[in-house]
Amino acid sequence: MSEHAGDLDNCEHVLEQVFQFIDNELDTASSDAIRKHLVACEPCLERFDVEQAVKSLVAKCCGGDRAPSQLRSRVLAQLTIAREQAHLA
Ligand SMILES: [Zn+2]
Repeated sequence: MSEHAGDLDNCEHVLEQVFQFIDNELDTASSDAIRKHLVACEPCLERFDVEQAVKSLVAKCCGGDRAPSQLRSRVLAQLTIAREQAHLA
């Protein structure tokens, strides 16, 4: 199996789950699939905007616009890992 990342349907699916991925709400297999896609798909990495992700998470969790610094750090860490792996690939 050597599927190419970048299929549009696949991207939509990934981006829908990105917030759950950041929030550690996905099981190991699902989050691994998301991470692998983000690593292989640069358009998704670009669309996976950190600020937007943080805002959405905060709106969902707290109903406010104050981003907990812990949450922000976790989002940034996840994104950094994905980006580093993308550059190494
Ligand atoms: Zn993609």
